[in-house]
Amino acid sequence: MVKEQPGSKPKHYTIPIFIPGIACPFQCIFCDQEKITGRQNLPTPEEVLQTIHQYLSTIPGHGSTIETGFFGGTFTGLPLKTQEMYLSLLQPFLKEGSVAGIRLSTRPDHITPEILDFLK
Ligand code: SF4
Repeated sequence: MVKEQPGSKPKHYTIPIFIPGIACPFQCIFCDQEKITGRQNLPTPEEVLQTIHQYLSTIPGHGSTIETGFFGGTFTGLPLKTQEMYLSLLQPFLKEGSVAGIRLSTRPDHITPEILDFLK
């Protein structure tokens, strides 16, 4: 539950969607995505939508900037169809303005001009 303090400044919120390290090319020694994300499988579309709705119901909308973040493993390493599925889930929220933007995890060898064009 997120509470707004009286007289507080506009806040920035990021709704976290955790992607385990399925798309990572290997497991880096300092990073255990299974422990960090607490999951072994990709979240289902229903889980993503439920998470977003739950967060939106507790974040004060007025004066807040709300983003959704795909954190954890390498989002841009997922198959394009899977990325597209997740990103399309967010389009209605972007259109209605309840979510202002999308953050996502990547790594230098999983970001190319083609991926940037796709994400755009
Ligand atoms: S999320 Fe990044 S740092 Fe962690 S295992 Fe995957 S590639 Fe390595």
